[in-house]
Amino acid sequence: MLFVTVALAAPVYNNDEITLGFDDPPRAALEAGLKQGLAAHGLSLERPLGAVSVPELVGLFVATSSDVREGEIDLQLRDTRVSVWEDGRTLKVASAPGGPSSTAGPDMATLVERYGLGPPSTEGGRSWEPQVTFAIEQALGVLSDAERAHLAGIRWVRRPRGEARLRPPGGLHAATYVAEGLDVRIEVYDDAASPTTRFVGTLDRPFTPATGVILHEIGHAIADSALRELTVGFETQRAEHERLRQEHERGVDALNASITRYNARPTDAGRAAIEREGERIRALGADLDARAHTLETARVALEASSAVSPLALLFAREVPGACTSYGRTSPDEAFAEAFALYHVDRPALERAQPAAVAWFASGKHLEGP
Ligand SMILES: [Zn+2]
Repeated sequence: MLFVTVALAAPVYNNDEITLGFDDPPRAALEAGLKQGLAAHGLSLERPLGAVSVPELVGLFVATSSDVREGEIDLQLRDTRVSVWEDGRTLKVASAPGGPSSTAGPDMATLVERYGLGPPSTEGGRSWEPQVTFAIEQALGVLSDAERAHLAGIRWVRRPRGEARLRPPGGLHAATYVAEGLDVRIEVYDDAASPTTRFVGTLDRPFTPATGVILHEIGHAIADSALRELTVGFETQRAEHERLRQEHERGVDALNASITRYNARPTDAGRAAIEREGERIRALGADLDARAHTLETARVALEASSAVSPLALLFAREVPGACTSYGRTSPDEAFAEAFALYHVDRPALERAQPAAVAWFASGKHLEGP
């Protein structure tokens, strides 16, 4: 391990996709580029460059490039993994031998069976390729049973790509969590199977970046659990209200017909029947009014919690900050980013947002808001 003393901003885990503009770079060129980068940022190396391997030089070179200076870089090179991260005023680099991890997962039916997933579906001519099921299985494999329980009933949908407006900056658009009323799904896109220069996780426990994205989306699903319950409750009440409304309408029509018949030929029995039926319809109407009131209250509660998940708000209150730049965009993203990092790279979360590790370890995300 090499330590390089630098002064950087507060650590975050920004591990974005990087395009390496070289193949087999000559050592001298890397050293020259790194020295230039260090000088441009007023940084200095703690040790002679001679103690740094070529893959580590690549990592340092990338880390000191102006656009990726903040954060952690986990590079998957041809046969070496390199991590560069900040530790106070020190930039650390470490590497380990190892090529890209295997990318063949089981078929989707096996995953559904093994993990009790909701029904899968393919749209747009895609199938559940082995690279995609590999990432999904990696993600499911790090979850606890209690966490996986939140995925019950959620559909898994394979689509070519997601909506452009939902694409996260600098990252793969490998998946999205979508909740539309009672239709709740995790969509997985072509990016989940695209080649990458990165890994997520630690040197001895690497994951493909798509695994991190899928865990991020599962984080949204967990944060959204309470809202899904509210939605199911609201939709059930609404359906029952509609059923009773139609019954009331038919009852009123039938009562009016009875009254017309009675007026044409009044009898005591007819009068008693009309009074009984009138009473029933009035009671039904009163029940409908009360239900309409409850329904409106449920609708307001649903709308209030639709904007931001209550669990994400609780997380934001108890664990300030965010572990990535993307996480800073909203409480929901802060929660999802921390949830994913907690599962793939706990040491990185410990560095970027230490309170989050204790928060997830105590199971607060499973208690509900
Ligand atoms: Zn998100």
